[in-house]
Amino acid sequence: MLDELASACNCTDCDSTLTDTQCQMVFDTAAGRRRVYECSCGAVTITVSESTTEA
Ligand SMILES: [Zn+2]
Repeated sequence: MLDELASACNCTDCDSTLTDTQCQMVFDTAAGRRRVYECSCGAVTITVSESTTEA
């Protein structure tokens, strides 16, 4: 089972896979944990992973 889903850049031009090193910001909201990635192409992608209470 994967703990983290792979994130892809929002833009269709570069189709890059975003890595943790490109993660600029992480913050928690009621909807889940949001991660803000900035691709080398300049596009910003925001992902939301719903937090679960599973141990
Ligand atoms: Zn990109």
